This record gives sequence, structure tokens and C-alpha cells, in this order.
Amino acid sequence: MPFVDLQKELDERAALGLLRQRYVLDSPQSPHIVVDGKPYLAFCSNDYLGLANHPRLISALQQGAAQYGVGAGAAHLVSGHSRAHHQLERQLAEFVGKPAALLFSTGYMANLGVVQALLGKGDTVFADKLNHASLNDAMLLSRAEVQRYRHNDIAQLAQLLEKTGSGRKLIITDAVFSMDGDLASIPGLLALCERHDAWLLVDDAHGFGVLGEQGRGSLAHFGVASPRILYMATLGKAAGVSGAFVAAEQIVIDTLVNHARSYVYTTAASPALSGALLGSLCLIEQGDALRSHVHDLIAQLRSGLQGMRWQLMPSTTAIQPLLVGDNQAAVALSGALRERGIWVAAIRPPTVPQGTARLRITLSAAHSAADVSRLIEALHELAR
Ligand SMILES: *Cc1c(COP(=O)(O)O)cnc(C)c1O
Repeated sequence: MPFVDLQKELDERAALGLLRQRYVLDSPQSPHIVVDGKPYLAFCSNDYLGLANHPRLISALQQGAAQYGVGAGAAHLVSGHSRAHHQLERQLAEFVGKPAALLFSTGYMANLGVVQALLGKGDTVFADKLNHASLNDAMLLSRAEVQRYRHNDIAQLAQLLEKTGSGRKLIITDAVFSMDGDLASIPGLLALCERHDAWLLVDDAHGFGVLGEQGRGSLAHFGVASPRILYMATLGKAAGVSGAFVAAEQIVIDTLVNHARSYVYTTAASPALSGALLGSLCLIEQGDALRSHVHDLIAQLRSGLQGMRWQLMPSTTAIQPLLVGDNQAAVALSGALRERGIWVAAIRPPTVPQGTARLRITLSAAHSAADVSRLIEALHELAR
């Protein structure tokens, strides 16, 4: 029976401290979660603005369900594209300063769809080595040639581009690296695209809603705009709901509607979610106070952990990873915090490179300064 092999693989993972398991939440997502009946102070969601359990969005979702029902019932190209989806696409495009936008059910699917629809055999994808798994899978699925460059190494990327001949070229990158919290050099990448007639796919899963004026995202943060940029952002992180979108020139969007398999061959997300997301967009736009509170918490955490045994990685965003190194040590530290009622996930290979296991601390506008103090004190205690 092949089950014997499966058990062996799982046992090997367990022995390396790499076995993954799930915990069941009995509460909404928030800094104060309940797991198996016990309360915890949590620092691991991507709900950066604290919108996942916002009363206005809960009622927007209820209203959306009352107006459009709960299920789309069909793919967008059949009969599943509702007025709510359509309106949300318009508003998202306008919000990020692009001519058009297209909704996907998840960010993972959006990345698969974009790269596969635009590239094929004979084309080349250039990818940062620390990109999110969905971008990595997208480039492999596209059948384009793959060139990976060292993290944020623009000089190496320039050399790779120099050596590449005919075919379409696409550079793909996280805008905010999901496990590190640092930013891609988007202006530098765009300059290379211009020199080599390439496209740039920016995955702004962790920048949309958080960075830039009114939370318009990483492009606004850097003040860059170009038809060459294909902008992708997710709607289940700072936006607090679910889904993703791609914003680009109309011709790119038309191409995706026709060729992106993860768009064409799947049921549209519930239109009620689009209703909630329209509300979320308003809260993001008016969320300067939330964003500045997150920045205060980042400063508090960084200064509070200075000089400690484990160091925070260099990051200015709400993702503040604490580098531990060894897999088992990271799991042990996460476990010791949990015993003190604090929930921070340990992130291990293959999600991050070997030897860089870490606690991925994320901050949210829903945290208080007292919450962050509690984390700082617990870490200092454990470091002793
Ligand atoms: C979370 C994430 C995704 C996937 O988005 P989902 O909507 O969760 O599928 C894609 N890219 C990056 C960088 C992410 O962090």
C-alpha cells in the first residue's frame, strides 16, 4: 500500500521539526483569538487594518447576501458576473490608478492566471528568489523559461535580461516580501523593464491597504506608474475579506478574461463578498489613523526588542520577522510563547530558506500598545 510511503514521508518531516498542523479558531480573526477554548493574544494574521471582523463590513456582507444571494452559481463568463463584482472592479481600478481591473477568487489563482495567460514557450520569466510560492508555481505552470535572481539583486537581473533574446519577458516580484517584510526596488525593476521591453508583475498582497497615500499600495508608495506594470493585490489581507484582483491596461484585462484558466474555469466568488469589499475599500481610503497606529506599533516593537538574543529582520512594514535560525528552536520559542498565552507562528523551510526559521510577527491596527508591550516582555523573559 502506498500509505506506508506517505507515513514515512510524514515521519521524516516530523523528525526534522517540519510537520505542519492546523489549529481551530473558535473566534473571529482578531488580536484576541480563542483556540480550543483558550484565549490568546495573536500576532500572526495578515489582517493589518483589523477589518476582518469590522461591524460595518459584517453588515455590508449581510446586505450583499440579501441583495445578491450567497452564491454566484456560475463562472464569470457564463452567468456568474454580477453588478457587485462589476462595480468593485471599477472602483479597484480607479483606486490603484489603472484603466481596468479583474477579480479573481484568490491571490494564488490570480498569479497563476496572469503568468499563464501572458507567457508560454519561448518567453522568459525573471523572478526574485524570495517570491511567494504562488508566483513560483505560476512561472512553472506557464512553461516559459525561468530565470531566478538573488533577492533584490538588480545588477544580477540586469545581466540576465542582457543575455535573453527574443520572446516576451516578464519580471515577477512580491512588492512587500511576505516572509521578510522588506520591499522590492520597484523603481529599479521598472527601469530595467523599460530598457529591455519587459513587463513587471507586482504582487502587492502585503502593501495594498497599508502602503502609499490612502492605502493605495506599493506603486503609490514609490510614486511609480506605467502601462508595463501589471498590478496584483489580494483582498483577504488588509482588505479583511477574501479574493484578489489584477489591475492593468484594458487590453491586458481582455486577454486575461479570454485566456487566464484560473479565471475562466472556476465559479465566481460570492457576489456578497464584493458587497463587503466595496465597504472595505471605503474604510481603507479613510484609514489614515489605522495606518499611523500600525506605524507606531512597529516602532514600539523594534525599539523594545533592540539588543535581544534574537533579532528582528530589517523591515519597515507590518511584517516583523524575528530570526531564530534553527527549525526546532523556532518551534520551541513559538511553543513557549503559546504557554504564556501569546500566539506567533514559527515559519520554517521550505517556506523560507534553510537556516532562517523565524517567528513571523505581524502587527495590526487592532493591536494596542499594551498588546505589543506584552509580547516584548514575554520575549525578553524567554531570552534570559
Ligand atoms: C497571501 C499571498 C498570496 C496569495 O493570496 P491568497 O488570496 O491568500 O490566495 C499571493 N502572494 C503573496 C505575496 C501573498 O502573501
